Amino acid sequence: MADHAEQALRIIQSHRDGVLQSELWKLLKVDSRKCSRIVKKLLDSGEIERIEYKGDGIKTYVLRAVKKAVTPSLILAGGELIPCICCDRECVVTSCNLLLDWMYQLAIEEHTEK
Ligand code: SF4
Repeated sequence: MADHAEQALRIIQSHRDGVLQSELWKLLKVDSRKCSRIVKKLLDSGEIERIEYKGDGIKTYVLRAVKKAVTPSLILAGGELIPCICCDRECVVTSCNLLLDWMYQLAIEEHTEK
């Protein structure tokens, strides 16, 4: 779960306006229950905040990073900065190939560090 929590935190930190919890679990490729446990862990550690969100016929939460100095290593994978920094695309987190490619690099990096 630590890997998913770290991935989740990096994704949330890179989106100033936050990420919907209903999108996060799809991005992490985990089920919604596991995502809830990951989110709880990040909430308990004070890394993120959760705000109720209702829209598009769904009720979910916006997850936002609690402002702290960014640790550079958290936004790097394979020597590449997370693409969300300086991104001006219309953001659809769950179908963003740039972010998925970056997460893939992150997964490779974490796997090779073990
Ligand atoms: S479009 Fe992709 S790269 Fe841009 S902010 Fe959204 S998730 Fe990040």
